[in-house]
Amino acid sequence: GLRVLEALAASGLRSIRFAKEVPGLRAVVANDFSARAVELMNRNVAFNGVGDLVAPRMADARMLMYQCKADRELFDVIDLDPYGSPAPFLDAAVQAVSEGGLLCVTCTDMGVMAGNSAETCYSKYGAMSLKGKFCHEMALRIILHSLDSRANCYQRFIVPLLSISADFYIRVFVRVFTGQAKVKASASKQALVYHCVGCGTHHLQRLGKVTSHGTGYGRALWWRGGPCDSGELLTPRLSSSSFKYGAATGPPVGPTCEFCQQRHQLGGPMWAEPLHDPAFVERVLAALQSSPGRFQTEERMQGMLSVVTEELGDVPLYYTLDSLSSTIHCNTPSLLQFRSALLHAGYRVSLSHACKNAVKTDAPPAVLWDIMRCWAKIHPVKRERLAETSPASRILSVEPTLQASFTLRDDANPSSRKRGLKRFPENPEAFWGPKARAKAG
Ligand SMILES: [Zn+2]
Repeated sequence: GLRVLEALAASGLRSIRFAKEVPGLRAVVANDFSARAVELMNRNVAFNGVGDLVAPRMADARMLMYQCKADRELFDVIDLDPYGSPAPFLDAAVQAVSEGGLLCVTCTDMGVMAGNSAETCYSKYGAMSLKGKFCHEMALRIILHSLDSRANCYQRFIVPLLSISADFYIRVFVRVFTGQAKVKASASKQALVYHCVGCGTHHLQRLGKVTSHGTGYGRALWWRGGPCDSGELLTPRLSSSSFKYGAATGPPVGPTCEFCQQRHQLGGPMWAEPLHDPAFVERVLAALQSSPGRFQTEERMQGMLSVVTEELGDVPLYYTLDSLSSTIHCNTPSLLQFRSALLHAGYRVSLSHACKNAVKTDAPPAVLWDIMRCWAKIHPVKRERLAETSPASRILSVEPTLQASFTLRDDANPSSRKRGLKRFPENPEAFWGPKARAKAG
């Protein structure tokens, strides 16, 4: 059976749920640094009759994890759900998890991670956050970057299974593997983000480059395909000696934005590989469907996971329909119209579970702005009221080279939307949101 550690267990509620709801566990260690919490946990464990599985512990979570590593008693699953940032616990967690084991990490410091204080984000996670429309997905990519780089210190690397942005927090589920050769690829999995302060266009700059000898495979090979439970996900089909690692080249942008001539902010580095393992998410969805009524939040889980399966895995970040429109001061096309235009132009497009109006697409920014220019031709913008140096004027003063078609396409409607799934959170209920921080003691 699996050994589970809930490192910051508070009342022990989740550990008790693990014991009652997850079959085949060997032991659950429910740890907290507070004597009061551990007392409460002991009562809750006894009350729920799970004393044979759940062992409350009172320790500094880091010391407990380092000690387990020293004793070679690694955990198969480590759950970190602190109040605020998990950053102080990551170094111990990436070492104390077993080979191929699972880390579940929650961050509730969303202000910091979504660009409100980038310098604090850097001190905690080693990455500058940005205030872009894509900030919730970027927060996921920042914690993944942080986990991977800390794992790299110990010749380990992460493979994300599922990365969720919900309400006021984010939570990632990653497996941790060991392999000196594969750790070499980690730099090429991270990217800096250039984000235009005028029009919001973004560009990615990878930190490293992987090239393969004489096979014609690109670095895409590092993540495409492979069953999720065999550790094959990041295994190249070639021996690692056939790869060469080096510096990336760049930058991807000039000194000013090619569309609006304003400056770029620099964010990251962030994880630039897929956020989820589609095969794993499909299995979670199947498990959910095979036992209806098991979870109160079933509807929401099904909706969110369905959107997750539709997300373009190889396209980091996204734009939003409202920000594209407000940049050029035009009215907003419907989601179906805009998605249709992208599909007509030969590009892929998806939603993101992290943002209701997201447009995630492999179309380059020049195509997005051409589509918006075509839209503005049909729905004219009052140009005389725009300052000549505004992003709107500068973008609209260029003739589109692409003839966008907004004729609706059937495949522009995402399946999760067609099926009417509950995909995004509704208005919060009473007592919704994080509670006050626990008092020391
Ligand atoms: Zn710009």
